[in-house]
Amino acid sequence: MRYVSTRGSAPVLSFEEAMLTGLARDGGLYVPATVPVLGHAEIAALAGLSYEDVAFRIMRPFIGDTFTDTEFRTIIAKAYAGFGHAARAPLVQLGANHFLLELFHGPTLAFKDFAMQLIGQLFQAALSRSGKRVTIVGATSGDTGSAAIEAFRGLKNVDVFILYPHGRVSEVQRRQMTTPSEANVHAIAMDGDFDDCQARVKDMFNDFVFRDGVRLAGVNSINWARVLAQVVYYFTSAVSLGAPHREVSFTVPTGNFGDIFAGYIARQMGLPIEKLVVATNQNDILHRALTSGAYKTDGVKPSISPSMDIQVSSNFERALFDAYGRDGAAVTQLMEELKTGGFTISQGALESLRATFASGRCSEADTTETIRRTYAATGEILCPHSAVGVKVAEAYLGATPMITLATAHPAKFPDAVEAAMGTRPALPPRMADLFKRQERVTRLPNDLRAIETLIRERIAL
Ligand SMILES: *Cc1c(COP(=O)(O)O)cnc(C)c1O
Repeated sequence: MRYVSTRGSAPVLSFEEAMLTGLARDGGLYVPATVPVLGHAEIAALAGLSYEDVAFRIMRPFIGDTFTDTEFRTIIAKAYAGFGHAARAPLVQLGANHFLLELFHGPTLAFKDFAMQLIGQLFQAALSRSGKRVTIVGATSGDTGSAAIEAFRGLKNVDVFILYPHGRVSEVQRRQMTTPSEANVHAIAMDGDFDDCQARVKDMFNDFVFRDGVRLAGVNSINWARVLAQVVYYFTSAVSLGAPHREVSFTVPTGNFGDIFAGYIARQMGLPIEKLVVATNQNDILHRALTSGAYKTDGVKPSISPSMDIQVSSNFERALFDAYGRDGAAVTQLMEELKTGGFTISQGALESLRATFASGRCSEADTTETIRRTYAATGEILCPHSAVGVKVAEAYLGATPMITLATAHPAKFPDAVEAAMGTRPALPPRMADLFKRQERVTRLPNDLRAIETLIRERIAL
């Protein structure tokens, strides 16, 4: 399996190289040169298997000869062993034809654990074989950073640096990043918003002297291996509701477009998905783009679903690449225009996107109301991101079963949940002492040189 860049001019890579690299050297994102298609019988045969067995069958064709089957099975088993639910991604019913996929039973209580725990094991296996050391740098609006730190803490061949926007993550998210005591973990509180953090990470990848000097590796949602890990739960949930014999739809609370892009890959692999509904909060660039064709940035408005407070949605580039007939030059041109505020999606590309994706936007007031209402009607406590999903999904309910992704545990966002329902959701017992642990963090300005200097100093130790 070969991987190509969405901008068309970076080297073609293997799975292992694409995973260790993250961002392509032409500024693009890696995608598989071709997506393997599973037959009807192969999908039907997934029914009743464990999460780990489905994960093996879905991901195996993408990893090429990077790992043997036995190695890959071991990696998967280790990745999901720390989850707090035997099903890993259990499905619960909210209404007649509406289901909630609980993706928050991992060690940091958000869906990002599915990808990050796997990537930790993949890196460990690949690096211990080569004896090499890498520096992982990531930007986070809260959940990626905690999931990355949890996945890489204490691993031998890796230093992990996470940039989060100072004052803009929840206290639980911050503490999950600042309390691990392992020396290879470095939390950085940067002045600015998430897009600033993401921009500085991109700058580091584009600074080739720095990139090669510290052996930079990226685990942000642009990393192909993360997208791949997320494809699995689209299969487990759809099959448990009757796929491939009947279609399902998904609604996905979306920020960087990584999670929903995994659904797009599942659909390309042959899973019968009718619609993939993009659910945004008041930071609605994706909803506006799919409605009007205009992808225009407009500043981040902090919301009660902060992990979706994003204006530049990195993985959308992968969807654009396909919508433009895999024309890397066309994507490069769009991304140039984005630097000065935005671009207009061509009519043909927009029609191609709309054949798969629908969209909706949920206001702050509707988010709160949906948490309250869903609890009253079903007893299910939603985090604010999941509530955005549920609200947007309601406009698309019909004959096809709808699966809404619940992306975080409510206790990760206790203030928003308490404001909606009057009670504070409890952390699972395994995390009960989070507020007593010692914090360790470095505050830095939004300045590339300052960040690079800190990283060089820390890894020299
Ligand atoms: C990261 C995150 C999202 C957005 O996911 P993307 O892959 O960036 O679209 C939604 N909800 C929660 C809780 C998250 O942590």
